[in-house]
Amino acid sequence: MRYISTRGKAPVLTFEEAMLTGLARDGGLYVPETIPTLTQGQIAAMAGQSYEDIAFAVMRPFIGDTFTDAEFKTLITKAYAGFGHAARAPLVQLDSNHFLLELFHGPTLAFKDFAMQIIGQMFEAALTRSGKRVTIVGATSGDTGSAAIEAFRGLDAVDVFILYPHNRVSEVQRRQMTTPTEDNVHAIAVDGDFDDCQAAVKDMFNDFAFREEVSLAGVNSINWGRVLAQVVYYFSSAVSLGAPGRDISYTVPTGNFGDIFAGYIAKQMGLPIKDLIVATNRNDILHRTLETGAYTKEGVTPTISPSMDIQVSSNFERALFYAYDQDGGTVAGQMEDLKSGGFTISQGAYQALKETYKSGRASEKETATAIKTYVAKHGELLCPHSAVGVHVAEAHQGSTPMVTLATAHPAKFPAAVEAATNIHPPLPPRMADLYERSERITRVANDLSAIQTIIRDRIN
Ligand SMILES: *Cc1c(COP(=O)(O)O)cnc(C)c1O
Repeated sequence: MRYISTRGKAPVLTFEEAMLTGLARDGGLYVPETIPTLTQGQIAAMAGQSYEDIAFAVMRPFIGDTFTDAEFKTLITKAYAGFGHAARAPLVQLDSNHFLLELFHGPTLAFKDFAMQIIGQMFEAALTRSGKRVTIVGATSGDTGSAAIEAFRGLDAVDVFILYPHNRVSEVQRRQMTTPTEDNVHAIAVDGDFDDCQAAVKDMFNDFAFREEVSLAGVNSINWGRVLAQVVYYFSSAVSLGAPGRDISYTVPTGNFGDIFAGYIAKQMGLPIKDLIVATNRNDILHRTLETGAYTKEGVTPTISPSMDIQVSSNFERALFYAYDQDGGTVAGQMEDLKSGGFTISQGAYQALKETYKSGRASEKETATAIKTYVAKHGELLCPHSAVGVHVAEAHQGSTPMVTLATAHPAKFPAAVEAATNIHPPLPPRMADLYERSERITRVANDLSAIQTIIRDRIN
């Protein structure tokens, strides 16, 4: 299995190389040269299997010879052992034909754990084998950083530095980053906003001397390994509802398009997915694009579903690549136009996108109303992101079973949930002492060289 860039000019890589590299050297994103398919029989055989067994069957065709079967099974088992639910991704029935896929039983209570935990295991195994060590640096507005720290804590071949905006993440998110005690993980509070953190990370990757010196690596949402791990729960949920003998539709609360793109891969692999519905909050660049064919940047407005507050959706480039029949040159041109504000998708590619994805949007008021209604009518306390999802899903319901992805636990966003319902969402018992654990925070000015000095000092 070989991996190619969405912009057509970067070296072709193996799975291991693509995973360790992240962004391609031509600025593009890695995708498999061909998408492997599973037969109806192979999909049917997943019924009744454990999440781990399904994960092996789904991911194995993509990893080439990076790991032996026995090794890969061990990594999968370790990755999901820390989850707080035996099913890993349980499905809850909301209505006769509407289901909630709970993706928040991982160690940091958001779906990003599904990908980050297995990425942590795969990095450690691949690096240990080659005797290498890397420094992972990332910026976070909350969920990605905590998931990365939780996934890499205590591993030998990796140091992790997460930059977050000081005083601008929720208390639960901050504590999840600052309370792990292992000395290979570092939460760095930057005096600035999320864009400043992201700019600092980008500058470090562009500082080639520094990049070399500390062996910089990234695990942001464009990493192919992360997308791949998210394909698994489309299979596990669809099979439990009767696939491959029955079509299933999905609504996905969307920001950087990684989660919903994993649904597209599942469909290409042979899973009978009818509709894939992109749900956005009022930062609705994706919804507008699917309505009009024009991808145009506007500012970002903060919402109660902050993990979906985006201006540009990084993984959308992968969707464009397939809509343009894998024409990397055209994708590169559109991405160049994006620098000056936006681009218009050609008629054929726009049609292809519309055949693959539907979309909808929830306002702040609609989101709060959905949180309130779903606890009253269906007994489910939703986080604001999942509430955006169910609101959009309702508008698309037909005779096909609808699965909405619940991307975070309500206790991760207690203020918004309490404002909508007057219920304070409690943390699960296994992390009930989060507010008592002591924190380790390094605060730093919004200054590149100060940040680089901290990283150099800590890894030596
Ligand atoms: C990251 C995140 C999203 C958006 O997922 P994408 O893959 O970026 O589209 C939605 N909800 C929550 C809670 C998240 O953490």
